[in-house]
Amino acid sequence: MGEHAFQAEVGRVLSLVINSLYSNKEIFLRELVSNASDALDKLRFRSITEPALLEGEPALVITLRADRERGVLVIEDTGIGMTEAELVDNLGTVARSGSIEFLKQLEQNAHDQKGDEQNQQAEKKGLSLIGQFGVGFYSAYLVADRVEVTSRAAAANQAWRWSSSGKDTFSIEPAERSARGTSIELTLKVDQKHLLDEWTLRDLVRRYSDYIAYPIEFESVKEGKATREVLNQANALWQRPKSEITDEQYEELYRHLTHAPYGFEGPLARTHFRLEGTVEAVGLLWLPKSAPFDLDDPRSQRGMKLFVKRVLVMDDCDALAPQWLRFVRGLVDAEDLPLNVSRELLQESSTLRTIKKQVTKHVVDLLDEIANSQVGDYQTFWGAFGRILKEGLVVDAEWKDRIAKLTRWSSTRGTDLVSLGEYVAAMKEDQNAIYYITGESRPMLEGSPYIEAICARGYEVLLMTDAVDTWAADAIAEFDGKKLVNAMRADVPLPNDNAADNTNEAAKNMGPLIEIASKALEGKVKSITTSTRLLKSPACLVLTAGAMPAHLENALRHAGKQVARGSRQLEVNPAHPVVDKLAALAKANSHDERLGEWVTVLYEQALLAEGSPIDDPIGFAKRLTDLLGQAVGI
Ligand code: ADP
Repeated sequence: MGEHAFQAEVGRVLSLVINSLYSNKEIFLRELVSNASDALDKLRFRSITEPALLEGEPALVITLRADRERGVLVIEDTGIGMTEAELVDNLGTVARSGSIEFLKQLEQNAHDQKGDEQNQQAEKKGLSLIGQFGVGFYSAYLVADRVEVTSRAAAANQAWRWSSSGKDTFSIEPAERSARGTSIELTLKVDQKHLLDEWTLRDLVRRYSDYIAYPIEFESVKEGKATREVLNQANALWQRPKSEITDEQYEELYRHLTHAPYGFEGPLARTHFRLEGTVEAVGLLWLPKSAPFDLDDPRSQRGMKLFVKRVLVMDDCDALAPQWLRFVRGLVDAEDLPLNVSRELLQESSTLRTIKKQVTKHVVDLLDEIANSQVGDYQTFWGAFGRILKEGLVVDAEWKDRIAKLTRWSSTRGTDLVSLGEYVAAMKEDQNAIYYITGESRPMLEGSPYIEAICARGYEVLLMTDAVDTWAADAIAEFDGKKLVNAMRADVPLPNDNAADNTNEAAKNMGPLIEIASKALEGKVKSITTSTRLLKSPACLVLTAGAMPAHLENALRHAGKQVARGSRQLEVNPAHPVVDKLAALAKANSHDERLGEWVTVLYEQALLAEGSPIDDPIGFAKRLTDLLGQAVGI
């Protein structure tokens, strides 16, 4: 009871909403209607096990009422309602996980607003950020000076009124309300009085809220009698035949389900399907255009809703799709599940397993279709979600082959991404493997010593820079009969290796140098061999069985894990003049102490080239200074 201060972040959300949406004020209605619909969903769901919540008054309806004299618009629902504590928590704080953090981004964005064109851009960006965040209730202040929320939670005795002019505080007081649910009274701003007009409201409902499955009724008093008129179709949109649903209606439903406000980018693509036979269900799924801020968290799976016979029974139903499709948004409406399913029960349900498989199939089919016919859209998809899809290669053998076809990679060929199919089609006649290399960034990989000989033959090399790629490539293992070969591993096979003959010749002289190097680098490398993969570089470190590439070791260290460097083999290039000269010196005088220092420098620069930290930076600096000294003739 009494006067409460808003949580500081609420004020920030409010001003951001108002700044970003001032040209789309009318979206407040869809936001409030959407909340009302959620409240009705909740009541309907809970009343399955607690019929008393219906209080003998089963009507589930949203009512719009206009009071012209007071300039007040009322949006009322017979949903679950809110207790005093819920009013305080839900309408006085910003509670969603990660949202406070996220607000900083929003604000940064608002601060960046300058100039007219930039202003528009910032508004767009603001919208897209808000789209991930949800505008919700606070959008009421786009059109109202003052908002009063009177609510009685289902089966509670006492009703409460929340009111605020959206400045710093709100107040809570006991109220009278016989009907279950929530009534929101908006005292409209002077320039928003047109919102009291029935035709304006009808138009807004048709435009933004037609997908709502509950009746939205306009109540007016004519000649002393209250009359009600239904403004929407009031049935589940996804149950209608596809041909009767417009793109706009699909999009509004998408926005409702994803809490994205009007003006925020629509989805990239959708698939709407009906399962018949042993399992009956309807699925309506979307691919968003951009990634939510918490996508990388594998626990974030807030996109799929489960309905049973039109009743929403579970938000964020992670049993509907594999984790590697956690970017998919939408719903499944099943006929053959009990209404009171629990998450545990779902894990066991064979019906649900069938549904999950069909959902996966429909999404993968959709991706295939876009990849083949809308290349630009597929690039957008891949940029936002490719790294998540690749997780499927590693964890889901059943779908591996189909996912492999959908992958796109950077390559030495050019700046466009290539598919494995394109790679294979462009392979040289004598080439028999798909070469790739993994690391932190494209420039680092392009200049890397590991691929010198491979590129010199005109073979393309895939440049993989996502953390998951090492595992993803291991999982693919083979595509179209061609093995995937990591150019950083020991024993990279190159067909018809003529270079090997020349280097074999040179390698004969290498014995003494390799012996010296083995002593100098004892404990640092597993072994030292001559190399055929290098052209311009004198040496490189290759991974022996099971060792992780340097960038993954680094990532684990950054994450605070203790990681010892995995086993490496030092390959030296006998055809390189420096190595050749060192070998000759070693042959002439195996006791020359400088040789140990010099091969250590070779090893250290190979560490740098693979992206690893140097074990002994001070020693390295000293060795380099000595070499510089010799170079300038000291
Ligand atoms: P969101 O709907 O995105 O969660 P809102 O700011 O719109 O955010 O609403 C905050 C919360 O207030 C909702 O999650 C819901 O719990 C509650 N709420 C809002 N409107 C209603 C309503 N009409 N009936 C019951 N609860 C509501």
